[in-house]
Amino acid sequence: MAEFQSVRGFHDLTGEELRRFRYASDTIKSLLKLYNFEEIILPVIEYLEVFQRSIGEVTDIVQKEMFVFQDRKGRLLALRPEGTAGTVRAYIQNRLYALKPYVKLFYEGPMFRYERPQAGRYRQFHQIGAEAFGISSPELDAEMIDLVYNILTKLGISSTIEINSIGCRVCRPAYRKALSEYLDQVVGHLCDVCIDRKDKNPLRVLDCKVETCKEAVRSAPKMVDYLCEECAAHYQSLKSYLEMLSIPYRENYHLVRGLDYYTKTVFEAVSTELGITIIAGGRYDYLVEEMGGPPTPAMGFAVGVERLSLLIKELPPEEPLYMVIPFGNVMDYAFEVVKKLRDMGKKVEISYKKANLKKQLELANKLKVDFAVLIGEDEKRLHTITIKDMHTGKQEIISFPELAHESL
Ligand code: ATP
Ligand code: MG
Repeated sequence: MAEFQSVRGFHDLTGEELRRFRYASDTIKSLLKLYNFEEIILPVIEYLEVFQRSIGEVTDIVQKEMFVFQDRKGRLLALRPEGTAGTVRAYIQNRLYALKPYVKLFYEGPMFRYERPQAGRYRQFHQIGAEAFGISSPELDAEMIDLVYNILTKLGISSTIEINSIGCRVCRPAYRKALSEYLDQVVGHLCDVCIDRKDKNPLRVLDCKVETCKEAVRSAPKMVDYLCEECAAHYQSLKSYLEMLSIPYRENYHLVRGLDYYTKTVFEAVSTELGITIIAGGRYDYLVEEMGGPPTPAMGFAVGVERLSLLIKELPPEEPLYMVIPFGNVMDYAFEVVKKLRDMGKKVEISYKKANLKKQLELANKLKVDFAVLIGEDEKRLHTITIKDMHTGKQEIISFPELAHESL
C-alpha cells in the first residue's frame, strides 16, 4: 500500500528542527514573562466574522488565505490565520478590561493560511504573539519594540527594526486621499492587484512586492508628513525612546502591514541575513471598539516561530545523556542508580537490551550516549558505579553514596 503523506503545506516538526523551534519558543516565552505578559490559550477555530471584522475584508488573508468551512449547522467557521482577532474576541467576551487597568497577554500556537507553500512558508505554521490592552502611551510602543529586539538579540539573530506611523482616524483620511491622487497618476505602472487596491485600500499598494509598483510608489506622499499633532508627538516620543534604549531602527515610510486594524505605530523586524520579516506588529487603538468592546487602545506583535528558528545559528549544548547498563542479576541496584541519577536531574536511559559489553557500548554510541554507567555484581556488592566517558573512553569507579557529591 502507498504510504500516507501529510497534507500539502502541513509539516511535521522533529529532531533538530524541533530543537531549534523549542529553543526559540522557550526563549521568547521566558522573555515575555519578564515583561509581565500573561498567557492566554485560545481556540484554533473562530466564527468567520471574527476575522472578517478584525483583519478586514480587503486583505490578502481574508480574501484568499483562510481555511473556511461549514459546521454541521451550516455556520461558517475559520481556522485562525493569526492570533490578534481571537485575543481581542476573548478580551471582550471574558470582560478582561474589568479586571485590571490594563492587560498584557501572550498566546502561542498553530496558525493556518492557504498560501503557496515554499521555504519558510507553510499552511500550518506557529506564532507567538503578545497583545497589550488599555495603554495608549508611547512608552508601551517602545517597550514592545524593545522586547522584540531583545528576543532577537538573545537568539543571536541580527535584524533591523523598521518603524512607521500610519496615523489615526483624524489624520489618515487626508493622507489616503493624497495617496489615491498620487496613485491615479502612476496607475499605468501598477500591477493588476494594486489597481484594484488603489481605491479600496490604497495604503496596501505601498508594500506591494512587485518591482514596477515599488518603483511607482518611490516618491509617493508619506504618512509621516500628514500626521495630526497627537500622532506626530506619539511617533516622536517613540523614536526618542528607541534612542534611549539604544535600539537601532530605520524609518520605513512604506511600511503599512497587511492587516487593516493598525493605527499609529507599525513595525517589523527584518532579518539582516535573508531580508525577510520575522516579527511584525503595531498599534490597533480602534479594534476592541470595532469588535464590540469598550474603546481600548492596544498594541501587539507576532513572531513566526518556524521562520525565526531557521535563523538560529547555534543551539545551546544538550544535557549529557547517561545510560545505565546492567550485567547479571542486578536490576534492583540498577533501578536504584537510575532513580538517583534522575533525582539529581540527569537525563538517563536504561539499556533495554541484553548483550555483552562490546555490543552494549556500540548501542550506547548509536544512541549518542555521553556517559555509560556500568553496573555488575561487583558494583552492586560494593555499592559503586563504573562510569565511562563515551567521548574520551576514560573510565572511573565512583562510590554510590557519594554520587551526589561527584561532579558528573
Ligand atoms: P508575509 O509578508 O511574509 O506573508 P505576513 O505579513 O503575512 O508575512 P504576519 O501576518 O504579520 O505576516 O505574521 C507575522 C509573522 O508570521 C511573519 O513575519 C512570518 O514570520 C510568519 N508567517 C506569516 N505567514 C507565514 C507562513 N505562511 N508560514 C510561516 N510563517 C509565516
Ligand atoms: Mg502573508
